[in-house]
Amino acid sequence: EKPVRLDKFLADAGAGTRSEVKKYIQKGQVQVNGKSVKKPELKVTKEDQVVMNGQEIHAAPEYVYYLFNKPAGCVSATEDSRDKTVLDYIEEKDRRKGLFPVGRLDKDTEGFLLITDDGPLAHELLSPKKHVDKTYYAKVSGKVTEEDARALAEGVDIGEKDLTRPARLEILSTWESDTGSEENGKRWESEIRLTIHEGKFHQVKRMMEALGKKVTYLKRLSMGPLALPADLPTGKYRLLTEKELELLK
Ligand code: URA
Repeated sequence: EKPVRLDKFLADAGAGTRSEVKKYIQKGQVQVNGKSVKKPELKVTKEDQVVMNGQEIHAAPEYVYYLFNKPAGCVSATEDSRDKTVLDYIEEKDRRKGLFPVGRLDKDTEGFLLITDDGPLAHELLSPKKHVDKTYYAKVSGKVTEEDARALAEGVDIGEKDLTRPARLEILSTWESDTGSEENGKRWESEIRLTIHEGKFHQVKRMMEALGKKVTYLKRLSMGPLALPADLPTGKYRLLTEKELELLK
């Protein structure tokens, strides 16, 4: 196991920022293998027992996986000169180098987004060969019908070389609304759930557009075997559990 500086070990483990943990060390609040140490530059490995303020600190895992409930207004990038990025929502102590979002949601789209520093896994999840399905909830202007469901099951033309791959549409509700779009002299809005197997730019919006309907709100509910937890507020994240990670791999 490669030795690292004690302050880096602690900061990487999420015990605090580099300067915070340095202070703890210098104040004698950190013990290594039962002895207080005051040198941040002391080298430690995974095999050493490190205790800070009475709590054992375990070495950082090789990779981290955050499940993020993306809010609207946040871009699926790691840097942006104008907009908030997904990394702006990650607390400083959790913001490891190399974190990035797995795939993209539009700026105005909310919901399930995985953030990790595990490049190989991200690559695999995004691979068209792997066919990870994604389920979205959408509000749509217009009256979504069973005819639309049949069209989406067969594939629609969104201006690409091929039709879209078969997708599953569930119509949750449709209702008359002054703000909806007109059909047969009445204005309608709908709520749908749509499961797709690809991830082209603006895919859901373009699929509904192909049916003459505009998406007015979009949220990703799940990706492959993992769903957005009901108790994870918009703008918040949590670590994937071991079990969730296994399901994903
Ligand atoms: N489809 C879209 O149109 N936008 C998204 O953000 C995701 C899927």
